[in-house]
Amino acid sequence: MLGVCNGLFEKTDLWVSKALEALSDYEFDSFLVGTKVSGLLLENEDLLWEIAGASYAEPLKAELNREVGKRIEREPGKIADFETPDLVVILNLWTETVEVQSNAVFIYGRYLKFKRGIPQTRWFCRACRGRGCERCDFTGKMYLESVEELISDSLLNEFKGTDMVLHGSGREDIDARMLGSGRPFVLEIKEPKRRTVDLRIAEETVNTENADKIGVTDLQYVKKGMVAKLKNAKADKTYQVNVEFQTTDTVREDAVKNALDALCGAMIEQQTPTRVAHRRADLVRKRKVATAQLVSFTAEAHRAVMELKCDAGLYIKELISGDKGRTKPSLNALLGVEAEVTELDVLDVDFDIPVADFKL
Ligand SMILES: [Zn+2]
Repeated sequence: MLGVCNGLFEKTDLWVSKALEALSDYEFDSFLVGTKVSGLLLENEDLLWEIAGASYAEPLKAELNREVGKRIEREPGKIADFETPDLVVILNLWTETVEVQSNAVFIYGRYLKFKRGIPQTRWFCRACRGRGCERCDFTGKMYLESVEELISDSLLNEFKGTDMVLHGSGREDIDARMLGSGRPFVLEIKEPKRRTVDLRIAEETVNTENADKIGVTDLQYVKKGMVAKLKNAKADKTYQVNVEFQTTDTVREDAVKNALDALCGAMIEQQTPTRVAHRRADLVRKRKVATAQLVSFTAEAHRAVMELKCDAGLYIKELISGDKGRTKPSLNALLGVEAEVTELDVLDVDFDIPVADFKL
């Protein structure tokens, strides 16, 4: 004969103390209680329904969830939240243990990258896909460090999380620095045990530990919805580019200035660059150059420094080189001299999402 669900209700007190013990490791305000039911228990539940019929209208687990939830709510400052709880408390009726799922913490900020050669996010080795092989010297990675990993190394332990993912508003080339106002991003901290770290101190930690490589500013807690908003945002970019002219002839400064004037306000037709063709659809994009000016010019060295402000999605290296005619017009075509970007810095990401709307 079946007890009332094998004495599930008599065990409420036991479940409550198990839940409180599991929760003691976590910092949280809101929570939700759920139940994991084994196949066996489901069967019992069905049986009980059959025996008790319609009079037993309350499914057992809903009742237990409610009871345990009510008791946790008696703890100071804890509230049940069915929409976006900090934690989900799972009563595993099969193993008789309590599992805690901690929902991610999201932090908005802007990052700076002072050193070239660092990708934005982890980049697994193409040959072994992260397992480690001779090609990657058994690191499993194409690059030893990334902006994501550097921030994670500094902060993951503060939040006592399991992993950290950086969602960027676009990304600069690995060999480009990110300067000026920095690039907007949202950090997703998975399974955190702490969720109210002082972000001014967190900022300082990142900036001190990675001083010569990266920095962060403007850190603030945001809602999850900020990630999609940031990913879909179109941001104009301002670049500083070092250009080398590949000619033995003299390149005249006024000719370069004229070419830049012609690019100012021009609509560029850009076929997917050869260097990214393997991972982007081959199509012609139309993007505008807002401003283009000469910063410095060294005739003897065949070099110039320029500053350009462009629409989101315009490939700047190809705007200079022309990419064998795939980008039109280009500095190369206007000047009639082969030109190559030797160094690229992003000075500004013009991002107009009201972050305040997503503040926690
Ligand atoms: Zn490898």
